[in-house]
Amino acid sequence: MAKRDYYEVLGISKTATDDEIKKAYRALAKKYHPDVSTEPKATEKFKEVQEAYEVLSDPAKREQYNQFGHESPNMGQGFEGFNFGGGGFGGFGGFEDILSSIFGGGRRESASSSTSRGSDLRTTLTISFEEAAFGCEKEISITKYDTCSACAGLGAQSKNDVGVCPKCRGQGRIVIEQNTPFGRIQTQQTCPTCGGKGKVIKNKCPVCGGEGRVRKPTKIKVKIPSGIDDNQGFKLSGYGEAGANGGMNGDLYVNVSVKPHEIFIRDDLNIILEMPITFSQAALGDNIEIPTLTGNVNLKIPAGTQTGTKFKLANKGIYNSRTGMAGNQFVITNLITPSKLSAEQKDLFLKLSRTDEKSSSIFDKIKKFFKS
Ligand SMILES: [Zn+2]
Ligand SMILES: [Zn+2]
Repeated sequence: MAKRDYYEVLGISKTATDDEIKKAYRALAKKYHPDVSTEPKATEKFKEVQEAYEVLSDPAKREQYNQFGHESPNMGQGFEGFNFGGGGFGGFGGFEDILSSIFGGGRRESASSSTSRGSDLRTTLTISFEEAAFGCEKEISITKYDTCSACAGLGAQSKNDVGVCPKCRGQGRIVIEQNTPFGRIQTQQTCPTCGGKGKVIKNKCPVCGGEGRVRKPTKIKVKIPSGIDDNQGFKLSGYGEAGANGGMNGDLYVNVSVKPHEIFIRDDLNIILEMPITFSQAALGDNIEIPTLTGNVNLKIPAGTQTGTKFKLANKGIYNSRTGMAGNQFVITNLITPSKLSAEQKDLFLKLSRTDEKSSSIFDKIKKFFKS
């Protein structure tokens, strides 16, 4: 899934005031809150809304976003410390207030989390010429972070094992006051007890150690449409690494490598076959069997066929199921000069050579060239 513009996510204009941002956010948070929403993909949308708000409600981050978009140097790595109730919400009371107003009670547990999106992954899938031509189903084996199946990504042995961090009270950050020669200075720090998560796990899931994800070999089935070509690829959204602490999954980019065929050469959707023919076939003409991807077909070559002559077998190329376009097969003759002759053949060629008519236009041109 491509990252949507934050303004678009919140449905506001680029010039929206802080009040408008807040209002849009409240409405959407209510609409998509995973605990109450019946909307499809509510959790993902909720996180998207959360993330957009986290940036746009902070003047500095908003400025940076306006300038650099998602490419902003501080925006890549999954918003460290991106949590409700954190510093970014200082302007109008923490997230608890919003939740209280929506649900009539604080729900810090589900709200405070330092989610981070899983990494994107890349892999190469090698398929045969025929598999590319006809489409296929393949299994990709990849070792990656996947949601821990023992705890379903919760990180704890049970839901009751997840509690609000006592040190930061779910904020994920703590304020430190220092007395300096310039006066009292307040600074915010990531909570050392929970590492910014805002929650603590009493009994961690023994399988993932509390992270909610584990590295394991995973198999992914993919359907590859007919017509894919060497070095083309596709993206499997959400099949990258699982995010930490319930964050969104990354994407998996698959590059397809198509093995060359023994006799066919591919040119986009066309197939080229170099077909060897003998002198007699070339001179006398013949009906020859031509292999195609879908079986043999008959091709009539006329008497006097030259080497390098191109014949077209319409629609015998590759069908691209995504565009509905089909290619052709081209047969290019290759006249084979015999390198070993039997006594009988040699005799026949000698007889033949005495009858050779060297009067075609090319021969004439060359003769003229010699005379001058
Ligand atoms: Zn904490
Ligand atoms: Zn686990």
